[in-house]
Amino acid sequence: MTKVDPKLEGSNIVDVIPHSGYCPNDCISCYYNSNFYLDIKKELPLLPNPSKYDLDKTIFRVNSGHDSNMLREMVIESCKQYPLKYYNTAIPENISRFDAPVILTVNGVNHDDSLRIEWWLQKLTKEDMKNLMAVRFRANCWNIILLDTIYRIFHKNKIPIIVTPMRYQPWYHNYMPKKYHKHYILEKHITNQYYVLNKESWNAMKSMLRLEYFFGKVAKKVTYMCGKTYENKYCRDCGQCEKFFWDFHNSK
Ligand code: SF4
Repeated sequence: MTKVDPKLEGSNIVDVIPHSGYCPNDCISCYYNSNFYLDIKKELPLLPNPSKYDLDKTIFRVNSGHDSNMLREMVIESCKQYPLKYYNTAIPENISRFDAPVILTVNGVNHDDSLRIEWWLQKLTKEDMKNLMAVRFRANCWNIILLDTIYRIFHKNKIPIIVTPMRYQPWYHNYMPKKYHKHYILEKHITNQYYVLNKESWNAMKSMLRLEYFFGKVAKKVTYMCGKTYENKYCRDCGQCEKFFWDFHNSK
């Protein structure tokens, strides 16, 4: 029996991870490299049997952990058995060479990181942009201003931007800027203990996505918070990734 990512339970999304072992990207506080629901040394690769699913409505999410741009040909070959799928990567290259849409993860370290982000994302070609289903920005209190840069790069193509509030493992607390400690509380998120945004700050971040002066008038049509409300942490309650997948699929 294939184990289900607890966050995905009850949704139409199923995880696929063709790799095994740690992801060399090693993004800060990565769920996959540190607290994953599977033992990444023993229980991967994760290639669920497609015959067990309704293939008209099941969407296979490839590499929510690890990276689809690593051993890309192997990843694409392993996933040919899944008719409805999207890939994840944090590397802005070769997006147009995937045989299904892609969600690109963007990391921003600090508020003054916008030049590095622009340099990093300039690798994307026009063809790459056409195969982006969404961009996922890993946000915190000290980098949220970078959303302005990300918005400028992607809004022309109407690519949805999902803002994922970062969660930090307890050991990372000392590395978080002290002035922002008050916005975070230590609590259980799905299965693990993290420093997460408190409710007030989560709602403030979500409200910020609606501010026209911050992003311009069309911002609210392309920027979304990961999760429906502070209390509803599950994909079945949010449904945005499924919507973005079908919007992309139906537009082709
Ligand atoms: S945006 Fe919604 S559906 Fe997508 S990963 Fe976040 S909670 Fe799940």
